[in-house]
Amino acid sequence: MKEKGRLIVISAPSGSGKSSLINAVRKELGEDKVAYSVSHTTRPPRPGEIEGKDYHFVSQEEFDRMVAEGEFLEWNSAFGSSYGTSGTLIAKMLENGLHVVCDVDVLGASNIKKRFPEAVMVFIAPPDFAILKERLMARNTDSPESVRRRLERAEEEIAQSPMFHFLVINDDFHKAKKELVEIITTGKGPPMKGADFRREFFG
Ligand code: 5GP
Repeated sequence: MKEKGRLIVISAPSGSGKSSLINAVRKELGEDKVAYSVSHTTRPPRPGEIEGKDYHFVSQEEFDRMVAEGEFLEWNSAFGSSYGTSGTLIAKMLENGLHVVCDVDVLGASNIKKRFPEAVMVFIAPPDFAILKERLMARNTDSPESVRRRLERAEEEIAQSPMFHFLVINDDFHKAKKELVEIITTGKGPPMKGADFRREFFG
């Protein structure tokens, strides 16, 4: 019998460099070995985002229909848009021996953990609050109001980070990538820090 893959649930404040990290790690380990669970969202695509690769971009009506038909393992609203993860596809990929990476917010992560208690939970964080603010402002795709809301949400997410098993701090891209590769391939990595991390983060 084929060995089941590992489910890796990743959360990170918006602007942590999470997407680039996930892409780089999948490239290194093989996109055929580490699958990415493509979420559905009602948010419009950002420049460079590709339908079916980054997200499935759907209308609110389509999203509501999927919720009503029970197609999502979990779903949530953030920044005025809805985001949802389809469950059947994940279960099938794990059965086929693929490792599966899900990128969800902390509520989504806690809901996935209820359905898949064996999931490996990873929180990716920028080194500190000032750098997060800088990165969000430099991204230039979000309005000042959206940056403000994303920073507020980051504070809430950091407060909930102790529910994750591992903490990857994205201060050095190559180091963070190496840590994430290790977590996916061995299930081991830098452990979550407690109150120290919050103190260090907010300075
Ligand atoms: P962004 O708009 O920056 O791509 O994502 C905003 C937030 O939505 C991020 O925290 C991201 O992890 C989260 N997100 C993306 N897909 C899903 C999903 O399927 N479910 C949940 N709960 N959150 C998601």
